[in-house]
Formats: sequence, structure tokens, C-alpha cells
Amino acid sequence: MDKQKRFFLTENEIPTRWYNIVADMKNKPLPMLNPKTKKPITLDEMTVIFNRACSEQELNTTDAWIEIPEEVRELYKNYRSTPLVRAYGLEKALDTPAHIYFKNESVSPIGSHKLNSALAQAYYCKKEGVTNITTETGAGQWGTALSYAAKAFGLELAVYMVKVSYHQKPYRRSIMQTFGAQVIASPSMSTRAGKDILTVNPNYQGSLGTAISEAVELATQTPNCKYVLGSVLNHVTLHQTVIGLEAEKQMEMAGEYPDVVIGCFGGGSNFGGISFPFMRHNLLEGKNIEFLAAEPASCPKLTRGIFQYDFGDEAGYTPMMPMFTLGHDFQPAHIHAGGLRYHGAGTIVSQLLKDGLMKGVDIPQLESFKAATLFAQTEGIIPAPESAHAIATAIREANKAKEEGKQKNILFCLSGHGLIDMTAYDQYNAGDLTNYELPDEVIKANVDKLEKLI
Ligand SMILES: *Cc1c(COP(=O)(O)O)cnc(C)c1O
Repeated sequence: MDKQKRFFLTENEIPTRWYNIVADMKNKPLPMLNPKTKKPITLDEMTVIFNRACSEQELNTTDAWIEIPEEVRELYKNYRSTPLVRAYGLEKALDTPAHIYFKNESVSPIGSHKLNSALAQAYYCKKEGVTNITTETGAGQWGTALSYAAKAFGLELAVYMVKVSYHQKPYRRSIMQTFGAQVIASPSMSTRAGKDILTVNPNYQGSLGTAISEAVELATQTPNCKYVLGSVLNHVTLHQTVIGLEAEKQMEMAGEYPDVVIGCFGGGSNFGGISFPFMRHNLLEGKNIEFLAAEPASCPKLTRGIFQYDFGDEAGYTPMMPMFTLGHDFQPAHIHAGGLRYHGAGTIVSQLLKDGLMKGVDIPQLESFKAATLFAQTEGIIPAPESAHAIATAIREANKAKEEGKQKNILFCLSGHGLIDMTAYDQYNAGDLTNYELPDEVIKANVDKLEKLI
């Protein structure tokens, strides 16, 4: 019998609306707070930093479905639908009764899921008359996505790139520059936030938190300039639900239903993107799908962080968000999964985790590369070091199914490819990578500093 391996949608079947899970949540996330007044943030306060349409989406707790603008959907058609793939090769290598599916977001022109939100945010900025945008980037995927999206809509972009990645991943910088963006290593001397940090710690290699502070500072001090964020916030995850909405239809084409849905976890956008449309089945139809968010063991906000109000950035410029956090000045180890080196989780995911509707899983760095290598050898795709965490979790689930002698359908999001991350693979192959232990005292020291508003 011929077995179908890849499932695609036609252009007409690409979703026309994103899914806003907040509308269907019984316990809504707590509001974001203005750090000065400690009152819930208003739409007008949000629009100081973000464009108005995204600010409205951020605060929308009532509409489950939000129209995808035609201009954005047109650009989605350049690479969507992305394939849903049955990983026969990986299944065979694991000798597992489980059926493993992955949603391949690595086929986007920039190599990751990040473009799904970058196009939407650039579109809204353009529509509102914004001329300049700023952002941060860790490993460089978000900056790459936004560089292309900014160019597609005729915007000027300045990217603050975490210094360790700026040096570890020079090709991502080249790609951003080729798309026409200005790229600055963060912390830099171009902002007060950067100067303050460099004064205290001249060798600091940067973090997403610091880079966000710099980008926000520039946006609030430049006329006609808005800040654009690649993860964590509700509207970003909203845009990413196009992943899960497609996967929902494609799983149906495959004639199967997932028992477990997995995404790697930085701020939560690809995890929420693939999960929320399926979680809707649990919330509204009493289904019992399991949701696993795979984070690095060295940056374990979901499993070892506390649920508390915290800032999204290091300097404390952003609104305060109710999140699972390791504290906003937590400095994660320099693992290669740069996109997962973030101290907190988005507010929706944090509420879902608190309510037991999903689980966090910690993956040590070496296990992630071992999984990535097996995946590369059996499926022919070099995964991003971030995505490798989802693969490692899928492998754990497939092995569990084997031990229990149970068939099980596993779906994970392959958030990106790792073709520009080969330095990391070289180090792994040479035996130069290590795991990082994170003592409880380090976490405690950071979270103890937080003001306890909950
Ligand atoms: C940015 C990134 C992530 C992490 O971000 P999320 O918002 O948690 O999805 C994961 N994988 C890849 C390939 C990325 O570029």
C-alpha cells in the first residue's frame, strides 16, 4: 500500500482567520499592568510602544476569531500551507508503535515560523502610517523574518541582536543586512539601557531581555517609530495559530487525531501556534489531547519558575506581565538554542500552565542535539537547535509508547531549520558541548527580587 507522507492544503484552504484562545478560556489571563500605576494597561498606553491593531488584538478577550488581512494572506501564499509530514523514517529508527507527525515551518523563505507574525505586524504598522520599526533578535530568526517583512511593506528596520548570537551566528546578521535592515549588537552604547548595563558589566554577552530594552527605548524616542516583538505577547501567538489551524485540517486529511501536541518553548509563539487550535477541542468539546512545551533545562521557567508579575525586558520598560518567570535579570547559559534563552512565558500560556491545561518539559542541551542528529539522519532535515527540543520530547513520547506497547499519535512543530546553525552542530560532533546545571539558589536569588503583586 502506498503510504502518503506529506499533506498540503490548497491556497483556498489556507485559513482566513486566526484563533484567539483567550475568548474560550474559563480563567482569563490576569491583566498586564502599567508598572508606574500598577493598574491594568490601557489601549492608549500600549500604542505608545506598539501599533494600534496589534494593541487591540493584545487586549481582545472576547473575539475567538480574527480576520487575516488579505494583504497578509497573499504573502502567506508564498510559502503556506506548510507541509504536515509523517515521520516514517524517525518512527522506524525508534521502532515505535507511535505515529509521529511534524508541521514543517522550516520551509518558510526565512527558515522558521517567525514570518507568520512578522508579515502581520509589518502590515499593520504600514497601514497606520508608521515609517520605522525596531526589534530585538536572539539567534537571529526573528530579526531575519522581520527584515524581510519590513522590506515587503516598505518600512525601515533597526534590529538589536543579542551579542553572543551576533558573533556565534554571523550569517543571520548578513541575511538581515541583505534584506536591508540595520543590525546592532546588544548591549550597545546607542541607548541608555545598553550603556547602563555595559557600565556595570563590560563583558556582558547580552540577552533577549536587554535587547528588548534597547529596541523599546529607541522606538519610544523616535518619531513615527514602533516596536515590534517576535514572541511572548498574545497578538504574536494569535498570528502563529495559522500553524495549528492548518495542521488541524491536515491531520484530518491524514485520517488521524493527535494524542499529544508538542512545541519547543522560548516565549510561547510556535508552541501556542500549533497548540491553541487543538486546545480548543479540549476547552469546548471535552477532548483530552496532551500539550507539552519543551524548554531548555538551563532556562526552565515553565517547570522551575514562579508565577508572578514581571517585566518582559531587563531594564523594566515593558508593561508588567503575569507570567511564569525566572526573574527579568536572569542570565541564561549560552546554549545554542538562542531563541529559547528567555526568562519568562507569555501570559496566556502561563495561565494555561497554572490551570493544568498543558505541561512543561525540560530538555538538556546534549539530549536536544542527539535528537536533532537522529532526526536529520532519518528525515533529511537539519533542525534548528530550538526545534530540537520539540523533537527530543517527541522521541521521549514515542519511546514511552513503545514501553507501554500503545499506539499513539504525536504531533510536533518543527519551528525552523538549522542550516545557519552548523557551528553548533560542529561543536556537538566534536564533543565540545555540555549540559548546564542550574542550581535552585540561582533561580531563587532572581525571583526573590521580584515585587510580589500576586
Ligand atoms: C524564535 C524561535 C523559537 C522560540 O520562540 P517561540 O516564540 O517560543 O516560538 C523556536 N524555534 C525557532 C526556530 C525560532 O526561531
